[in-house]
Amino acid sequence: MKRLVVVKPHGFCSGVVRAVETARMVLSRHPGERIYCLHEIVHNEHVVDELSRAGMVFVKRVEEAPEGSILLFSAHGVAPEVRRAAEARGLRVIDATCPFVAKVHASVRRFASQGIPIICIGHRNHDEVVGVSGEAPDAVRIVEDGSDAERISLPTDRPVAVVTQTTLGAEQVDGIVSILRDRFPSLRVPAGTDVCYATRNRQRAVRELARHCGCVLVLGSANSSNSQRLVETARTAGAEAHLVRSLEDLAAIDWRARESVGITSGASTPEHFLADVKAYLQEREGFPEAEELVVAVEDPHLFRLPECV
Ligand code: SF4
Repeated sequence: MKRLVVVKPHGFCSGVVRAVETARMVLSRHPGERIYCLHEIVHNEHVVDELSRAGMVFVKRVEEAPEGSILLFSAHGVAPEVRRAAEARGLRVIDATCPFVAKVHASVRRFASQGIPIICIGHRNHDEVVGVSGEAPDAVRIVEDGSDAERISLPTDRPVAVVTQTTLGAEQVDGIVSILRDRFPSLRVPAGTDVCYATRNRQRAVRELARHCGCVLVLGSANSSNSQRLVETARTAGAEAHLVRSLEDLAAIDWRARESVGITSGASTPEHFLADVKAYLQEREGFPEAEELVVAVEDPHLFRLPECV
């Protein structure tokens, strides 16, 4: 008999809730005005499309926002030089950086001011890592994986600090940190690393989901780091796992051969997309009403919204 299971927590984390609510509030306070956002506010095409339709203009460079206009910084944060460029253009900045990411920026500034070299574990080209490393470009070295950790060259007789991208696989980070600990005896690592609670909870939840379902769907965008890690985590736990970006992706799967299907979604994936996926599987592929599997309970409104102009 077929089963459909939706695991909790899934979808929006508190940092994404804050960023998206901020964007909506700014749009509603300035009807008719073009509001700019540097990079995708969160890495999800459904969210970006919805905000674009509501009037938000997404830009890749500060210079694309006209002088004096309103510019949002995304949940992933920006480097100080970007803040300076926005100030020089007289832009009215609203900062939707997730407070957990802001905390990593603060750690980099603190270590750099003490003359301590910093290893940032993360994906070199990800917006978050670009912003974090931009806090102290001369002091930060990026390590993407275990082989980078084996090769990185820094003095071994002095303190070395570690920060991490917040959306990495918690287990992979632990593995990289353990290599670094062996190489640098005075390594300073924040307790539990910087992988945030939402990333950890969703990875724990998908691991549990993979125990119940042979096939796991992770709803999220290809450029969403935490969604990609959920796919990896489900596969490592033994399930067949697919990243689902749109309903078209579902059409490519032979559902007759799949009995138990589990659904989760990345921290930037809106709930209405999950509802669409459930409806597709129920109405077109004969899956029953979805069961709920609760692994952890979260408060999506951990943070206050930033000051808005
Ligand atoms: S995944 Fe974590 S760090 Fe990223 S926005 Fe959500 S709460 Fe913040």
